[in-house]
Amino acid sequence: MKFDGYKVLVSFENIDEELKKEVHGNNIPKAQRKCIFCGSNTAKFNKIAHAVSETVGNKSLVSHFECDDCNEEFGKKLEDNLGKYMLPYKIITQIFGKKIN
Ligand SMILES: [Zn+2]
Repeated sequence: MKFDGYKVLVSFENIDEELKKEVHGNNIPKAQRKCIFCGSNTAKFNKIAHAVSETVGNKSLVSHFECDDCNEEFGKKLEDNLGKYMLPYKIITQIFGKKIN
């Protein structure tokens, strides 16, 4: 069945086959990655780094260019505060982060 009356609003082109999630930017192997925050290309890239904070509801768009150390630091220093700041909006929109599905 073909639907000609609709246009594509969202398409998924860079799928990480291991994570089964869409990658923001280039989808490249871990050995070729360079962190956009600290500049390291020898850092580890084992954690899932969300391109948009998970605390505002992003569960599917990841980044291959944020190393584990930077991901952890942003999580400690920024995302907790962002989550608290956004709490009234989360309640109104019923969009929650990683702890509530
Ligand atoms: Zn980094």
